[in-house]
Amino acid sequence: MTVSLRKGPPTPTPYPLASRGTDSAPRVVDVDGVQFGGKEFVVIAGPCAVENEKQLMAAAEAVCRAGARVLRGGAFKPRTSPYSFQGLGKAGLELLAKARRATGLKIVTEVTSSETLGPVCEVADILQIGSRNMSNFALLKDVGRSGKPVLLKRGMAAKVSEFLMAAEYILAEGNPNVILCERGVVTFDTVTRNLFDIGAVPVIKALSHLPIIVDPSHAAGHREYITALSRAGLAVGADGLILEVHPHPDDALCDGPQSITTQHFADLMAELAPLALAMGRSLHA
Ligand code: PEP
Ligand code: MN
Repeated sequence: MTVSLRKGPPTPTPYPLASRGTDSAPRVVDVDGVQFGGKEFVVIAGPCAVENEKQLMAAAEAVCRAGARVLRGGAFKPRTSPYSFQGLGKAGLELLAKARRATGLKIVTEVTSSETLGPVCEVADILQIGSRNMSNFALLKDVGRSGKPVLLKRGMAAKVSEFLMAAEYILAEGNPNVILCERGVVTFDTVTRNLFDIGAVPVIKALSHLPIIVDPSHAAGHREYITALSRAGLAVGADGLILEVHPHPDDALCDGPQSITTQHFADLMAELAPLALAMGRSLHA
């Protein structure tokens, strides 16, 4: 497969499997009936980190009631400081399994190392590769070989081409089920945690056939901007959202300032429903 940006011999693309090519239809990633890249605007929600049973079950039941399709929650947390809460590890995975049994929600949780891939695969319906691991090529190959759907987050300082080449590592292992996630890139300004690169969504749609969702939580860093950025994600053509929702955000062990309450999430879903219809999409809410 080739892309040609100028006259002359065609330039081979460095990501032939992730590339849209000339005639490839958008890929629908089907996670046991939840389809990313189809008509539905798929919403993933839950806490940044699994903290305890009460917190996770309250979040899971609330986001399920409001129309989320997938529960997020980190059991292994890739924290910038080694002294920050690192997650509950395997005990967190067990709580995620319990939340799935109680609600029927699919589970997405982060895998931070090849050593813990086995236990994470036992629980996760979708493996999350975080921004800090987007260029961990050994891990990308291992999740590629796992056969599980992968939610690949853009590195915080990665170009779109580097992002698509990271996806290529997974695809090249024979795993076609990659969902991309734009979560903001580093910027000089400090008013938001990252710069929400909304323009990357149509660019990636033009370059790749893979579904792409957006993460307003890590882009904004502040909960007061989540509603507006979620609307923007839907309007710009993303295939879904991943949002941090916590029953008591001010007590969260991780990413509290950007986490919305369960009531805020329910209000947001009600607001997005007519917008989804106007965009020719459907929302499970
Ligand atoms: C997360 O989803 O909690 C997370 C750590 O996100 P990112 O990898 O985008 O920073
Ligand atoms: Mn987080």
